[in-house]
Amino acid sequence: MFDIETDVAVLGAGPGGTTASIFLSKAGIKHHIFDKATFPRDKICGDALSGKVGAVLNKIDPQIVYELDKHPDYTNCWGVQFIAPNGMALDIPFNKDKSVQKYAPGFISKRMNFDNFMVSKLDETFAVRKFACTIKDVKQTPQHIEITYNENGQDKICAAKMVIGAEGDRSLVAKKLAGHKMNPHYYAAGLRAYYENVSGMHPQNFIELHYIQETLPGYLWVFPLPDNQANVGIGLLSSKVKTKNIRLKEMMLNALEKNPGLKERFKNARIVDDIKGWGLPLGSVKRSLSGERYLLVGDAGSLIDPFTGEGIGNAMVSGKFAAETTVEALTKNNFSAEFLKNYDTNVYNKLWNELKLSYTIQRLLNRPWLFNFVANRAVKNKTIRETMSCMFDDLNMRAKLKSPAFYFKLLFNL
Ligand SMILES: Cc1cc2nc3c(=O)[nH]c(=O)nc-3n(C[C@H](O)[C@H](O)[C@H](O)COP(=O)(O)OP(=O)(O)OC[C@H]3O[C@@H](n4cnc5c(N)ncnc54)[C@H](O)[C@@H]3O)c2cc1C
Repeated sequence: MFDIETDVAVLGAGPGGTTASIFLSKAGIKHHIFDKATFPRDKICGDALSGKVGAVLNKIDPQIVYELDKHPDYTNCWGVQFIAPNGMALDIPFNKDKSVQKYAPGFISKRMNFDNFMVSKLDETFAVRKFACTIKDVKQTPQHIEITYNENGQDKICAAKMVIGAEGDRSLVAKKLAGHKMNPHYYAAGLRAYYENVSGMHPQNFIELHYIQETLPGYLWVFPLPDNQANVGIGLLSSKVKTKNIRLKEMMLNALEKNPGLKERFKNARIVDDIKGWGLPLGSVKRSLSGERYLLVGDAGSLIDPFTGEGIGNAMVSGKFAAETTVEALTKNNFSAEFLKNYDTNVYNKLWNELKLSYTIQRLLNRPWLFNFVANRAVKNKTIRETMSCMFDDLNMRAKLKSPAFYFKLLFNL
């Protein structure tokens, strides 16, 4: 009656879906993984892979990060540079002891490569790939979830006991089963361009975040890629784009052409692809991530960090939890909304403090004078720089950023 009957359908083979599939396979669970694309495929992104990505990869196989560290498609990244609205640049190295840390704490690699790499790790003993299959509808019935997908121009139906919705920002599982709606206060618009020959890149491949006058209230990034290329982009809250009637592309090109710190560096640079845009569903508020017979992973669950824009790591963390909850549900033959709530608890226990803090910091950054002030002080003061460096590793340290005492100490150089 159905074209496919399966215990588990993973919808989407981005970092969230592939991570879920890999951990299902590790647990010996047969499943189907769908994607409308065939791989390799592009995904509009800043391409920065944080330490959280490395941590999940380590749980898949500790050798992987060493592989990436030496791979020519991956830039090793050792820190971040903030450029304040007044042009002051602040270098924050990731606070790693290089004699202990055997591989780079972060990487930058085109998603074309990274996502294809994740797909290459799918285990065909357990995972049936259904690529070039577009999900068109999802419907709940008492016995399963019915997934309508299009393959070779034909509509077909897959019946699954459990569905892991990992189809990204425009997830049908999030929209149709969980009833999620886009809220422009918790959603950002982003543009990405690939350039080659940008001069003055950081010698240790720091990623650059430019909170400069020309792009406020948004920020522009320049991330170093292999082969003398850079990922250049801009991100801004959708509510701001709307109320201030901002044209993001113009804003970005204007900054690259006119900003004193950028225009020389881009004088001989050449754009190598069209400027492309996509949305970022931010984890600024807690949303429900599960319901009867389904779980939401990564962007489908709106789990992008509102301050850093990091979504790949959170997609992978949630993908791993989704696999674990699915294994339990199958073992206990319990697919009820109540039972699957464990998944929300696990994901938010791991990510919520960080997301909440990032949301607070994101709102602080609305005040350029505050940013200028912190940058001016930090450039002159090593202790402050070291404190900020620790903030990237240590959440308790990052919490200091929202404490009035932090600014009081800065003000009086304490
Ligand atoms: C401009 C921009 C810059 C960003 N920069 C960074 C960054 O530097 N670092 C970072 O960590 N994060 C960044 N992010 C966020 C990051 O891209 C996402 O958080 C991440 O891709 C989420 O992974 P995912 O697996 O949940 O979804 P996705 O990566 O979006 O994967 C979803 C998959 O589902 C498939 N799919 C979608 N719809 C269907 C359908 N109907 N049928 C079948 N398949 C379907 C897609 O083809 C895709 O393969 C950025 C995002 C944007 C927009």
